[in-house]
Amino acid sequence: MRERRPAVLSVPPMPPRSTPAAALLAWYDRHARDLPWRAPRGVTPDPYAVWLSEVMLQQTTVAAVGPYFRRFLERWPDVRVLAAAPDEEIMREWAGLGYYSRARNLVACARILAERGGFPSDEAGLRELPGVGPYTAAAIAAIAFDRRAVVVDGNVERVVSRLFAIDTPLPLAKPEIRARADELTPEKRAGDFAQAMMDLGATICTPKKPACVLCPLAERCLARKSGAPESWPRRAPKSARLERRGAAFVAIRGDDAVLLRTRPPKGLLGGMTEFPGTEWSSDFDSARALDAAPLALAWKAASGEVEHVFTHFALKLTVFVGRAPKSCAAPEGARWALLAGLPGEALPSLMRKVARQAGFDLPARPRT
Ligand code: SF4
Repeated sequence: MRERRPAVLSVPPMPPRSTPAAALLAWYDRHARDLPWRAPRGVTPDPYAVWLSEVMLQQTTVAAVGPYFRRFLERWPDVRVLAAAPDEEIMREWAGLGYYSRARNLVACARILAERGGFPSDEAGLRELPGVGPYTAAAIAAIAFDRRAVVVDGNVERVVSRLFAIDTPLPLAKPEIRARADELTPEKRAGDFAQAMMDLGATICTPKKPACVLCPLAERCLARKSGAPESWPRRAPKSARLERRGAAFVAIRGDDAVLLRTRPPKGLLGGMTEFPGTEWSSDFDSARALDAAPLALAWKAASGEVEHVFTHFALKLTVFVGRAPKSCAAPEGARWALLAGLPGEALPSLMRKVARQAGFDLPARPRT
């Protein structure tokens, strides 16, 4: 008699192992941050809003950009309207957001886009636009046009270097991080994937205390397994930041006007409004500061110094305040502006600090 074999059970095939991208996208679908420039699920993103937000977010935090983004969009709802706006008005709205070359590039880019009738949808075309570097081009291509593009910002760098425990220090590790990010990026939903990585980096895989228990990628993360995930990304030792010093002169006329001038269009704070001042240098001689005063007045130094940090150097400014008679004419290259109109001037954060040091009640940022 033949032995009876047990019946073969019909078992459904095992689902394919979930990829990191799938795990992350599932998490994003539940936990995406609600950001003013982000289109709701199912709504096609507006390339103008994506571009504007990405330019504003370069070197600036999400919290700082929010009010600027809303104000820009309210005032200039599409690229044609922005392209037609006067430069000074755009610079004025940008004042306080910093890195002013971005605003100048924004204007130039808007005019090109208005002329050609819209945005290119691929990375190569986007990279030809003023102020659109590799990161911004990839972000716009992925988020606005759903192209597969590898988007690597600071948040993504941190997540990827932890996932793979990349021991090469930044910035040397950038090519390796990019290659790993490329491996992770899915063919579909690359824009959502990029935003999910950014959200993960901003809310869970944070620089100091990553919340690994909440992380959808925890099982695959080598840094978590090491027990000290916060020690990635590795960084090369920092060199001491250069310090520069200088002086700024706040002249107040009898009719409540202050002396201002516009910085040259190119270079640091290009095109922005400032109080006249000296050059900023590491060997600044404070004893000779008054040689550069724009008017012959009885200048008095305000107590303390204004401190401001730029990317490549830290600046300390002594602020001198002087009273001028009503009849005083502005020297060449400068102009008198009424104090009441000061909040509407394109004053960068540094000059707002100078104004406050001189005793003016000026908010740190323009109206929000
Ligand atoms: S497990 Fe922890 S360290 Fe790794 S990616 Fe997630 S939050 Fe970051």
